[in-house]
Amino acid sequence: MNVAYDVAIVGGGPVGSVAALSFARSGARCLLIEANPHVVRPFAGEWLHPAGVRVLRDLQVPLCAANATVSSGVSVNPAGRGFVVFPEDRSAPISLDYPGELRGLAFEHHELVNVLRGMAADHPLIDYAAGARVNAWKPSRTTDGEAPTGTLTITDAEGAVHEVQTARVVGADGRSSWTRRLLGLPEQSTLISYNGGIRLTGVELPKEGYGHVILGGPGPVLLYRLSPEVVRLSIDVAPDQIELRRDPQLLLECVSPWLPDNIVEALKRALQTDRPVWMPNRFRPRSDYGSGPVALIGDAAGYFHPLTASGMTMGFLDAKCLVQSDSVSDYARRREAASYVPELLSNALYQAFTGQDAGTARLRRGVYRLWRGCAAERERLMRILGGEDTGCGSFASATVRIGWEAACATDPACPRPWQSLRDWQGLGLMSRWALWPLAGMLPGSVRRWMRPRSSPQSPFMSHRGAKAIEPQIRMAEIRD
Ligand SMILES: Cc1cc2nc3c(=O)[nH]c(=O)nc-3n(C[C@H](O)[C@H](O)[C@H](O)COP(=O)(O)OP(=O)(O)OC[C@H]3O[C@@H](n4cnc5c(N)ncnc54)[C@H](O)[C@@H]3O)c2cc1C
Repeated sequence: MNVAYDVAIVGGGPVGSVAALSFARSGARCLLIEANPHVVRPFAGEWLHPAGVRVLRDLQVPLCAANATVSSGVSVNPAGRGFVVFPEDRSAPISLDYPGELRGLAFEHHELVNVLRGMAADHPLIDYAAGARVNAWKPSRTTDGEAPTGTLTITDAEGAVHEVQTARVVGADGRSSWTRRLLGLPEQSTLISYNGGIRLTGVELPKEGYGHVILGGPGPVLLYRLSPEVVRLSIDVAPDQIELRRDPQLLLECVSPWLPDNIVEALKRALQTDRPVWMPNRFRPRSDYGSGPVALIGDAAGYFHPLTASGMTMGFLDAKCLVQSDSVSDYARRREAASYVPELLSNALYQAFTGQDAGTARLRRGVYRLWRGCAAERERLMRILGGEDTGCGSFASATVRIGWEAACATDPACPRPWQSLRDWQGLGLMSRWALWPLAGMLPGSVRRWMRPRSSPQSPFMSHRGAKAIEPQIRMAEIRD
């Protein structure tokens, strides 16, 4: 370890490692501090959108096709063409392709993190302090014209304490961020749901090359291929569906009616030897990016539901933007604006895909109608999802169009649409959807005030007072 660095990065997860490599590429001397080098999240962060893939390619991260005979990098499933949504009404699946030549990637999370850490450790401008912990940060007094700096106190893996000088501190230390506490920022977050992940082997996906979103069960099921042999199945359940987390057989019973037969068989086989790994999905608005010489990136800045698989892409774009910014305040301004729409989209889609009331059911019919009928809207969604389009206007007009389609989407089971009470009730309940386009149209100053207070249920509801999402199926109904 040296005594002086241009930047010290706290946290060597995917985002901190990408930040270290990006700073080093610009000629900065970096210290990358990772407290738990042998512990990696079990299955979080396996799908990367095209904007995130571009960041990895720019850094020359070796990405090898998973079926390559000799692999010397991250083994990736290269055919991330987009997503295919299977509606709960069992109507035809809807393909949502990334525009043009854009492609996402899927891979084992730990492989990417290990390759990135290895690249950081080998880089001549990066010192990788594995097993080290930060204890304190003290900015130094500077005179006019002198570059600001400060002292970071670190305990290394052997227990020795070091003091290093650094001009900047970057917090990439995830959800329980030390750097956030250092800045005195709020730490609370809202529990949205739990995701159970399990690996399936020897199974073919209905539409290879796509991530699959299957609706209708206790919560959305995501399926994507990690390698020629392995498919990831991830099930979302509401916080109070404790039985589903405890009892794999009950879980199997509840999701099976919605899954293709070969997937059900593969899931049964997997459950004979394995249990799903459960991870909490939480929400903390991405509204704080640091101040002075201390910046926050990745999950330390905030996070939302992984339905849109955007966490790492957002984090990699944070790192890229920070390196290109003149100051932390410049970086904070740019990323606050660019992360607003992906956050709204994740919250709005999760609501639309999980709500069980007549209004949300009608809204979903509107979503399917729009996506089926309009290629431009499908492309717009995928641009927003992939981090290519972060315009508030784009989000607002997409949600207005969904609202319009939903207003026209009467219940197909009803013989006299518009004359049934159910249809009118659905229309009334759907009016809550109007909040999402409204949120997209907020002027920047109002948005910056509202956003730290927003909740996953509504951009206008207090984050502190947010209720847990309504359970999608009550346990009694499941047992029946
Ligand atoms: C169920 C689930 C599924 C997900 N799926 C996807 C997906 O498909 N695609 C996607 O893009 N995102 C996904 N995400 C989100 C994604 O996992 C995160 O956005 C991503 O891991 C954030 O990376 P990070 O480096 O900011 O934080 P982390 O991955 O949490 O890394 C933080 C690092 O900092 C270290 N650290 C913490 N404190 C200290 C300290 N004081 N000193 C030193 N080191 C410290 C930790 O040991 C850790 O290595 C998913 C999340 C969940 C919960």
